[in-house]
Amino acid sequence: MLADNLRQVQANIEKACKSVGRNPSEVTLVAVSKTKPVDMLLEAYDAGARVFGENKVQEIMDKYEHIPSDVQWHMIGHLQRNKVKYIVDKVSMIHSVDSLRLAETIEQEAAKKDVKVPILLEVNVAEEESKFGLKMDEVLPLILEICDFRHIEIKGLMTIAPFVDDPEENRDVFRKLKKLSVDIAAKNINNTTMSVLSMGMTGDYQVAIQEGATMVRVGTGIFGARDYSVIH
Ligand SMILES: *Cc1c(COP(=O)(O)O)cnc(C)c1O
Repeated sequence: MLADNLRQVQANIEKACKSVGRNPSEVTLVAVSKTKPVDMLLEAYDAGARVFGENKVQEIMDKYEHIPSDVQWHMIGHLQRNKVKYIVDKVSMIHSVDSLRLAETIEQEAAKKDVKVPILLEVNVAEEESKFGLKMDEVLPLILEICDFRHIEIKGLMTIAPFVDDPEENRDVFRKLKKLSVDIAAKNINNTTMSVLSMGMTGDYQVAIQEGATMVRVGTGIFGARDYSVIH
């Protein structure tokens, strides 16, 4: 069943790409495995998933040893500075950088471990109060402050779009983030590529792809609904 879900999501990604003349190889599927047990991650692994997204440091720590090492772990959730040290050499990307202080901590901890960490800046495009992330006009100033850090690589932008019934309602959010990434890329800033645009979740990843997403983060669509009551 999980393998079928994964295949269905992959087929939907291909279809969305084709609808706008994009090559499906431009889009990376992040299988969002938060709250799901190791055996389900292994099932997804056997079905071909190699990029897993988690939003809690503790869950990455708990699952890390049990999953084959050719998997990439992406930290997609709000990251507390005192926990950066636990994952800085385990994750392939941090999607949720939204402050100078967090970027500084990642830089310091990555330096200690002698690694370079690819990061995305999280943007709260719709300016929802409940959400973390930078405002659109805060992104460039932050990049200019951190682009000389030697242990991070600024790879692009991420957003969590509002929860909506009709994914079309988020098209404008995705368009705005794409435009911001194009504008920033045109400035040719040191250590900054804007090659990654992480946007789109189960409810809206096809629309996000049509608007330029290069990474979609799909949880429910692969693993089924989450039961938070079993998490301690
Ligand atoms: C949980 C989560 C997702 C996946 O959400 P689904 O709606 O289950 O696909 C994607 N991105 C982030 C940042 C998340 O926390």
